[in-house]
Amino acid sequence: MRRGFLQFVGVVLFLCLAGAPLHAQEATVMNNEGVDAFNRGDFSRAVMLLEEALALDDSNTAIRRNLCNAYQKKAELLAAEREFTLATQILRKAVKVDAENASPFMQMGAYYLSQDKVADAIDALEEAIGLAPGNLMAHELLGQAYYEDNDLYSARVQWDYVLAVDPERPGLASRYEKAFREESVEQEFNRWKANHFIINYPKDTPARLRGAITTILERAYLDVGRALGGTYPPSPVQVVLYSFEQFGEATRMQGHIGAVYDGKIRSPLTDTDGEWIAEDELKRRLVHEYVHVVARQIAGDRLPWWLNEGLAETLSKSLVSRDIDQLKAIYNEDKALPLASMESAQMEHRSADDLRRAYLQAHATVDLLWNRYGRNKMLVFLRSLARGEESESAFKSIYRRNYETCQNEVAALYLY
Ligand SMILES: [Zn+2]
Repeated sequence: MRRGFLQFVGVVLFLCLAGAPLHAQEATVMNNEGVDAFNRGDFSRAVMLLEEALALDDSNTAIRRNLCNAYQKKAELLAAEREFTLATQILRKAVKVDAENASPFMQMGAYYLSQDKVADAIDALEEAIGLAPGNLMAHELLGQAYYEDNDLYSARVQWDYVLAVDPERPGLASRYEKAFREESVEQEFNRWKANHFIINYPKDTPARLRGAITTILERAYLDVGRALGGTYPPSPVQVVLYSFEQFGEATRMQGHIGAVYDGKIRSPLTDTDGEWIAEDELKRRLVHEYVHVVARQIAGDRLPWWLNEGLAETLSKSLVSRDIDQLKAIYNEDKALPLASMESAQMEHRSADDLRRAYLQAHATVDLLWNRYGRNKMLVFLRSLARGEESESAFKSIYRRNYETCQNEVAALYLY
């Protein structure tokens, strides 16, 4: 679950009336041309003209607000292509020229959240609330930042306020309920800070197991980061470990789901019988979820389901002979799902059997792409999805084949 891009800037810009001093008149002309450029959607030109206007008349608050709006629009375009670093640099200029305006701070906070820079997000959103106390969007985003920091109590305080003012706030009630459920399960948990992870775990977890998990995760940080082009999350990743029952209670997931990444890695430590899950199995699950962390760093929520899961499978384990037998059955009995039908996250609502087949197919497909066409092509594919390209057309231009051809190639490996 992630928010889409929020709209921060209306298109209201202020025209200036010609005043007396000459430099102010020139500033007015520049400002009005800047407004025209803005209204045409040429935000770079608008920024240039409005910067010049401000240099001529830096006491003009209308010019300041216009320039701030133009910066915000430029940042919005960059963010749509996931160029968050450039977008936040521009917003730094925006908050300097229009220091009383909360909107660029909120926008900055939202972009920091999209990059998982939680501490920066909290700072920017606190600034926004200082300028615009009670602003619902700022409080909602600040709640999200606390939630991602796993400070569930503070998240709840923010969201309580928003829901009290606007009970119909889209999507918030369900997020609130989820956080509340997690809080009630996790309130007695301990917390351990590793180098790149914050691990939350039930008190009865043996120290030996906690050590093993830290080693698994720190190893994954290096290996998966390196495999995916040197990608490392900017803030420590939150990991929440549960007993089998607690996992079900907190996530409401069915028993066949081994672990999950929903912005935090969540995994049970015990099985249905209450036995500790074996270390290799735990390793497969944690590495799988960590691949999702890294894939999201690269492409946000823009990966099709089959690619996201296929990558996580390929980089966490090899296909074993039992998997290969099942793949043979899938392809020979014509039970394969078309790749195009495995794009959306709705896949998770399918039956356990369907889902098992879909995971195997996703694994086999990404294995083939990774091994036959190489890691670099995969990175190019991921980056074009990050920019917002449609999956199959990006796939076609990079791999020179459509989904169907690719699926036939995969099937050919398993047909008798
Ligand atoms: Zn997964």
